[in-house]
Formats: sequence, C-alpha cells, structure tokens
Amino acid sequence: MKPFPRAEISRCALQSNLAQLRLIAPKSKIMAVVKANGYGHGLLNVAESVGILNYVQSVGKYHGGADGFGLARLEEALQLREGGVKGKLLLLEGFFRQSDLATLVTHNIDTVVHHESQLHMLETIKLDKPVTVWIKIDTGMHRIGFTLDQFEKVYQRLLHCPQVAKPIHLMTHFACADEPDNQMTQDQMNAFLQLIDGLDGDRTLANSAGTLFWPTSQADWIRPGIALYGISPVVGDRGVNHRLIPAMELVSNLIAVRDHKAGDSVGYGAFWTAKQDTRLGVVAIGYGDGYPRNAPEGTPVWINGRRVPIVGRVSMDMLTVDLGADAQDNVGDSVQLWGKALAVEEVAEHIGTIAYELVTKLTPRVVVELL
Ligand code: PLP
Repeated sequence: MKPFPRAEISRCALQSNLAQLRLIAPKSKIMAVVKANGYGHGLLNVAESVGILNYVQSVGKYHGGADGFGLARLEEALQLREGGVKGKLLLLEGFFRQSDLATLVTHNIDTVVHHESQLHMLETIKLDKPVTVWIKIDTGMHRIGFTLDQFEKVYQRLLHCPQVAKPIHLMTHFACADEPDNQMTQDQMNAFLQLIDGLDGDRTLANSAGTLFWPTSQADWIRPGIALYGISPVVGDRGVNHRLIPAMELVSNLIAVRDHKAGDSVGYGAFWTAKQDTRLGVVAIGYGDGYPRNAPEGTPVWINGRRVPIVGRVSMDMLTVDLGADAQDNVGDSVQLWGKALAVEEVAEHIGTIAYELVTKLTPRVVVELL
C-alpha cells in the first residue's frame, strides 16, 4: 500500500503546462516561479520536470525547458544549484545581507534590487565578479520596488557601480492582473514601458495572470508560477479553461466507514448532526497535513467517482465525510482532496481562500511523490 496522505506530482502535467505557456507567450522566455518549495510541489521535482536539469551541452541551452527559475530566498536558489540546475536563477525579493552578494556571484544567481539598503550594500563591497541585477520598479503594487520618481537616480547609480553587471535588467509586478477588467494593469504596463523606453536590458512584467489575460505584458520574460502548476490565478476560473493540467493530486485513504444514526453528531464540538441515517467515511488527512481546519461543511472531496461533502470539524489527522445511506465505499478506498477530478480552485472557493495557499501549505507529513 502506498503511504498516505500523498501529494502526487505529475511530471507530464508540468511539462504540458510549460509547453502551453510557450504557446500562449511564444516570444517570451519563461522564468518558472518555483519559490515556496515549487508552490508545494517540491522544488527539485518541478525543476527536473520542466527540463532545466536536461541542459543540452551542444546547444548551450535548456532545450524545451524553462529558461530560468524565480525564487524568493537565497536558500531556495542554492538548493537548485546543489540539485544540478545550471540555468538562470533570480531572487525575486533580492538579497538581504551584504555577505549574500559573494554567494550570488559564486553561484551565478541574479538578484532583484528594490531598496536603498541594497544599493548601499552593492556600492560598499568588492566582488570577484559583478552581479546581475534586475531593478524592481513600483508601478502600483506599492509593496517593494523603487518609485517612478526614484528610478532615474537608482539606474544611474547602478550603471556606475562596478559591482553590477551590464546591462541592468528591469521588472515590475502587477497588483490586479487577476482581475481581467481592472484598468490598473494597463496603467502599470504603460508607466513601466514609458519609464524604461530606450534602455538596454531585459524586461519582465507578467506573472501568470499577466501572461494569460494581458498578452501585451509578456515582454522578454514571463514569470508564471501558479499557471505552471495547472491552476488559474483568477477566482471563479479553472486552469483547464487555459488547457492547463493540475500538476498535484492530493490523495489519502478512507480509514473507517461507520453507520451513523439520525440525530448523532460527529467530531470535535459536535456541531454537525445527521438529519437522517447515513454512512460516514473517515479520511486520513487533517490540519496537521495542511488541510485547512476551517473547511466548512459541504466542502467536497472525491471518492469512487463522486463528490461527497465534508461534515463536522476537520481535526488534526482526520476529517469526516457523508458518504450517503447507500454508500458502498470501503476502508482503504482512495480519496482525492483535490486534483484532476476535483479542481483545487473549487476547493479553495468553498474554504474562502485561494488555491495558492492550499498547495503551498501542505506540511512535511504529506509524502510528495513525482510520477
Ligand atoms: N513574479 C513575482 C515577483 C512574484 O512575486 C510571483 C509570485 O508571487 C510571481 C511572479 C508568480 O506569480 P503567479 O504565481 O501568480 O504566476
């Protein structure tokens, strides 16, 4: 018997999604965003699947695979290097300590520069080799990045900084690209392109939502995260609508099936009571595995070809589902919490969160298996 709960990661789905993104953005290079352990899919699982490990020496590039990877933290980038990944790596939040700069140079890792403190660190260090930087321009997200007014001075300082490789690359990030009717994305795009007009260096604006819904934002590099995993960034939408395939199936097993009398409650707090006689199934997964405790009654799971609702409170290691009075399910039957049969976007809508949070929050107790 396979271990459970399990997150089965489909190599084929990841590869197919990458190919689909290439069709959607044929002129752009792809920086696959694999931060947060590949959005819970396993950092090296994703890196390996989308081909970056298959560096074709004779061609000098990653044939068919992603052109680079986006990470949030230096540790993640180093894990990729240790795993044999040789392509472009970019720290999307930049470096935090001056001593990180030597590590970036040694391991040939690009960094975002978004703050005065980073400029200062670059200007007051000597490095063996210049580091490749991407200036993050704040065109409306107002989280990290230099403002439009600060940009010219920052650009000039970096241009004259010997520790910085030339050309300098340029990026921005969208606040509302997942709202296809929101004019803000077009405004951000206009502000960015106008500001950097005529400068050398690569440009990147688009996350998954930009790539899918704002094709004019695709530029030199797209930076898809969630779409690579087969998930739509837009609430109410589904990855399959864009020919993307869910890369993760979260599965577990039924560990008990019990007849349950009308009027009997179940679980902590006893707050769900059966209105009629029924049969309950107990599934071996809970908030200790990262399945949200606040999943309300009615959140679906998939058992033996049908949706059945969660009833009662999700506990640390188990949750209960109403299989129905005539159910024929048995202990040991497989249960899909999300995956191809049950879109993670749908589950997220029931729980009042986004699919990003569900896939990234799985705990180490869930066995992640690349298939
Ligand atoms: N680019 C940056 C700077 C990000 O922070 C992220 C993720 O948050 C992405 C790209 C990928 O976003 P998404 O998963 O929505 O495609």
